Amino acid sequence: MQTHREVLVVGAGAAGLMAAIHAARRGRRTRLLEKNTRAGLKILISGGGRCNLTTTKVGADLEAQYGSRRGRFLRHALRAFPPPALCAFFTAAGVALQEEDLDKIFPVSQRARDVLDALLRLAADSGVEIVHGAPVQQVQRQANGFLVTTPRGPIGADRLVLATGGLSYPKTGATGDGYGFARSLGHTVTPTWPALAPLLVTAPWLRALQGIVLTGAAVAVLDGDGRERQRRRRPILFTHQGLSGPGPMDLAGDVEELGGSAVVRFDLAPDTSADELERGLLAAAAAHGAQRVVHALPLLLPERLRTTLVALAQADTTLANLARPARRQLVATIKDLRVPVARSLGFAHAEVTRGGVALDEIDPRTMQSRCCPGLYVVGELLDVDGPIGGFNFQAAFATGRLAGLDA
Ligand SMILES: Cc1cc2nc3c(=O)[nH]c(=O)nc-3n(C[C@H](O)[C@H](O)[C@H](O)COP(=O)(O)OP(=O)(O)OC[C@H]3O[C@@H](n4cnc5c(N)ncnc54)[C@H](O)[C@@H]3O)c2cc1C
Repeated sequence: MQTHREVLVVGAGAAGLMAAIHAARRGRRTRLLEKNTRAGLKILISGGGRCNLTTTKVGADLEAQYGSRRGRFLRHALRAFPPPALCAFFTAAGVALQEEDLDKIFPVSQRARDVLDALLRLAADSGVEIVHGAPVQQVQRQANGFLVTTPRGPIGADRLVLATGGLSYPKTGATGDGYGFARSLGHTVTPTWPALAPLLVTAPWLRALQGIVLTGAAVAVLDGDGRERQRRRRPILFTHQGLSGPGPMDLAGDVEELGGSAVVRFDLAPDTSADELERGLLAAAAAHGAQRVVHALPLLLPERLRTTLVALAQADTTLANLARPARRQLVATIKDLRVPVARSLGFAHAEVTRGGVALDEIDPRTMQSRCCPGLYVVGELLDVDGPIGGFNFQAAFATGRLAGLDA
């Protein structure tokens, strides 16, 4: 066995730092090459500068967040390093954590910088050599390992860990370089799309709702045949360009995959059935027939939205004058309001990339390539993405750790 095996990690984000720390702790000579002059830029801007570094969800519930295929692939990594273990890792490194709404875990200090500083401290203490300003340009397989090309010259290693991220937020350094490296070493890269991004909606009635935030509504994406692909009951924000907030952003990957045929459906009263809504309108008409319909709609909805719903359903009248077809239309507008959405705002605004290095070519127990022994692929570069809520860091840390333990 080689005791002085050299491990080269490309990309000092969440996954690369975690891989490097674990490799170095095992006594590997570990170098971490980062194209930026600073490591971990995406960690710093994550969670609005607060870094939602994981979730309270565990087990099958956690795996299900990534979808069945991706969740199955991640099972080993997530079970080997579940959220409580990740929390213990950071707590031991001096980052106190707390749970917030929607099962999210943040640093008590509310500072993403503390998460990055802890990782950099652990890397330094383990003996990781971080080389900043070292963009890898090319990777090659050699008889006994790998050779990577950087503007500073070639660097050889026995093991190579690719942790270069995806295509989202390219200003942080993630410009998709890793896809080319993986392809050049024999891997397939599945099509990539922006995910966790605001949705671009052109319908004027929706844009007119700019500034409204809904916390109790549900939003879903339907395919061209009207089949529901995903539904989220999370906050929705109406913006000057369309829709934002966790609910709509979670749908962006599906919207993009549908390639222009997606429809977004709102259920603005998810706890009330259509029948109950209709009975409520009838009861209101019996009691206050002269009242305008807009005032009888669920009062939890902002008035501007209620006015829009009444206009869309052509029900701008008094309760007494609301005929059965208009009443039914109004209820359908509240429970099943649809708007076409062709795309998201794209990679520049996307928190993650959907698609990446094909999962069936990676051993899920180690993250080692099945095509190219000695190569490891981790983090967002893989065809793995999760919803908003700490799931993407959780996957990056857990996959990075497995590679570090094996490389
Ligand atoms: C605005 C924003 C907010 C987010 N908030 C959260 C959140 O709160 N919680 C959560 O779980 N997820 C969040 N995410 C997603 C999360 O940041 C990513 O999933 C995670 O950072 C992926 O980690 P990674 O290490 O795989 O890739 P990255 O963090 O993208 O790191 C890749 C690194 O590789 C470097 N690199 C790329 N190419 C080369 C090359 N050729 N040579 C050398 N180095 C290279 C890059 O410069 C970069 O430092 C957020 C993302 C964004 C954009």
